[in-house]
Amino acid sequence: MQERIVSAKRQSEDDPQIEVGLRPRSLNEYVGQEKIKEKLTIYIRAALERGEALDHVLLYGPPGLGKTTLAHIIAWELGVNIRVTAGPAIERPGDLAAILTNLGHGDVLFVDEIHRLSRTVEEILYPAMEDNALDIIIGKGPGARTLRLDLPPFTLIGATVRAGMLTSPLRDRFGVVDRLDFYSPSELEQIINRSANILNVKVEEEGAALIARASRGTPRVANRLLKRVRDYAQVKADNIITKSVAGEALDMLQLDSRGLDEIDRRLLLALIEKYEGGPVGLDTLAACISEEPETLEDVYEPYLMQLGFLKRTARGRMVTREVYTYLNLKPIDDDQQKLW
Ligand code: ADP
Repeated sequence: MQERIVSAKRQSEDDPQIEVGLRPRSLNEYVGQEKIKEKLTIYIRAALERGEALDHVLLYGPPGLGKTTLAHIIAWELGVNIRVTAGPAIERPGDLAAILTNLGHGDVLFVDEIHRLSRTVEEILYPAMEDNALDIIIGKGPGARTLRLDLPPFTLIGATVRAGMLTSPLRDRFGVVDRLDFYSPSELEQIINRSANILNVKVEEEGAALIARASRGTPRVANRLLKRVRDYAQVKADNIITKSVAGEALDMLQLDSRGLDEIDRRLLLALIEKYEGGPVGLDTLAACISEEPETLEDVYEPYLMQLGFLKRTARGRMVTREVYTYLNLKPIDDDQQKLW
């Protein structure tokens, strides 16, 4: 399946080098998420003053909102090393044991997609998180013994799209649990301006505002759109992202002013035309756009709900009245033509 320009998931075109280059390094540079930043500043300072490891942190929320970035920043602010891995990458308990025994005092272990850890691997984490201990079972059958090894104090930072996907014993072992929210257009504008500076491209205020609004509340999408609009500005204009250059480029990408693409439109139209606006079950709706129900739920729906276009009810998904109005008038900006 073709990758969507507005997908919040990391894609092949998101060159890791560039993503890392655009990634803020300190809490000061990290735009938005003010409440989380405020709390973390206090916890980090307290941990540093006591000379202890920071409590384990669970970050959840849709992809592309800055969970990985925040994990790196926490390690940087604590002045410790970070070891990065992901749930599906840790296949056997021994793999995790090897990672844990290699951590230095106070280090951060970042586990992306932590809900995808296997049960046997997860069980290694419990004593590690609670008692800084690694339980190794030696031998088999009745003669088996458990050997307890001490681990250095460390901070586990877990990331997931939904906290509810974690088993409760794992979730309960995190001292800090925070949800990342979608970013406001003005926060995204700040991110776009910062990235434009790093990428050495000129962007006018109104151009940045247009890209921000189409970025689906998501910094990863904002950075990706900025790169595509930069290409357009380089080839078709004088390398300056003005309002009209941004509008034309977004139009070429077939995005509307709120960053909705053809798939979103197909989803909303299917709900309206086939199911009279709903309610319709998740699986049925996913089939309409040939997507996995989980992807629909974790990646597509949160933004549509944030826009107030979609509601989850006990009986199924429903569109709101706003969608009908929205689908009828769809200018990118006032002096541009309708896209749909
Ligand atoms: P996640 O782990 O939630 O999928 P990432 O941390 O990988 O998201 O963020 C994706 C990109 O978005 C990063 O490379 C970074 O450049 C940018 N980004 C994320 N959050 C912020 C932020 N608060 N301020 C500035 N840039 C951000």
